[in-house]
Amino acid sequence: MRAITLVAATLSFAAGPLAAQDMPSTPGGERALEILEEAIAIPTVQGRGQVPVLAEKLTQRLVAAGFAAGDIAFTPMGETGYLTARYPGSDRQAKPIVVLAHMDVVEADPADWERDPFIPVVENGFVFGRGAIDNKGDLAMVTAAVIDLKQQGWVPSRDIVLLFTGDEETQMATTQVGAQALSNAALVLNADAGGGELAEDGTPFVYTVQAGEKTYADYRLTVTDEGGHSSRPDDTNAIASMSAALSKVAQHRFPAQLSPLTKAYLEGSAAQAAPGIAATMRAFAADPTDEQAADALSARPEYVGVVRTTCVPTMVEGGHATNALPQSVTANVNCRIFPGTSRADVQQTLTQLIGDPAVGIQFIDNGTIESLESPLDPEIMAAIGRAIEERAPGLAIVPGMSAGATDSMHFRALGIPALGISASFIKPEDEFAHGLNERLPVATLDPGVEQWKKVLTTIAG
Ligand SMILES: [Zn+2]
Repeated sequence: MRAITLVAATLSFAAGPLAAQDMPSTPGGERALEILEEAIAIPTVQGRGQVPVLAEKLTQRLVAAGFAAGDIAFTPMGETGYLTARYPGSDRQAKPIVVLAHMDVVEADPADWERDPFIPVVENGFVFGRGAIDNKGDLAMVTAAVIDLKQQGWVPSRDIVLLFTGDEETQMATTQVGAQALSNAALVLNADAGGGELAEDGTPFVYTVQAGEKTYADYRLTVTDEGGHSSRPDDTNAIASMSAALSKVAQHRFPAQLSPLTKAYLEGSAAQAAPGIAATMRAFAADPTDEQAADALSARPEYVGVVRTTCVPTMVEGGHATNALPQSVTANVNCRIFPGTSRADVQQTLTQLIGDPAVGIQFIDNGTIESLESPLDPEIMAAIGRAIEERAPGLAIVPGMSAGATDSMHFRALGIPALGISASFIKPEDEFAHGLNERLPVATLDPGVEQWKKVLTTIAG
């Protein structure tokens, strides 16, 4: 996924709109476009066995740029797999830095698209194609950046390892195994989260560093009953019991919470927020027991996820005939859990809240794991800040938490800090990750490659 950041763009800038750019103008940007076009043309959708094909193309490019063939490995896992490419540093004993991106994409039906999703098209300042933003654009920029650095003869102070996974959009099994293989990493820089937001007129508005994500959880609620003819109702009714349970869930408010990350996010993004809400954000960041501020933030979809754990009924199914008492009703409750709270704790809360032993509650394991926050190391944040400052002087840099799961969680679970620092700058309304007519602004490629180079040469310089 490309994580949705939680920032409201409302300001307008005095600067004029940036002209749409149809071709990159630097060698790095040109190479990134070439890699991106090649990658889009390989449909790395689950089940099509194309991830190894893309991995092989990337391997050839890295070897041609001077990477030792022995430093690159593709590990097959079923029809997919993951690629690692080691850029050796001067201190081979130091813990490596991992740069993480994914090669797979979400399925796309050509019938629904204006253009074939697997034929890259450059038009009106955009590269169109499945994966353009999620995540082949950054995959291409990272690859172009390390090729540039290698050709310039740069040697990092410690190893840098590219880890390109092959099932981020589905099982994340390649991530899990890749994370285990690189469990000695000092830091993970994830190209598939965070990134730059452009204002309406195309000027950079804010840059988000993703340092945490909420834990995803689904719970299946079940009520069963003997049923019978609807003309002879008795004391119990499965639909009525489920309705009561679900309305308790919908009305419940989990306690407001503040973490170092959400505090930094609220304080950092208040300056960009609408005037009415900025004071509320600062008030809550200063005092999370301020219920008025918590309520005001919870009333807005862009902030509700930052304030607390949320649980909401998302599906319901029950009954079998219009004239029969229902024998069974099931429902799904989807929760986005504040980092640090366990899924077992949330299940217990739901059980107490519903308070009806007739309602069974079962956690559905979809392979995601419980998320942790990454600490905001001042030195690393400063390095990222320097790269952004070069690209967009004065731009606000705000740490953020995303609402869903990214590859980073598998490293955070091993105690390795992971920061999402995509080099894609895009307007929120141009974001079509997972959607139709997915696109990436061509203008992000030249500075994006430079951003990755600057980040790597600063952190591992
Ligand atoms: Zn993604």
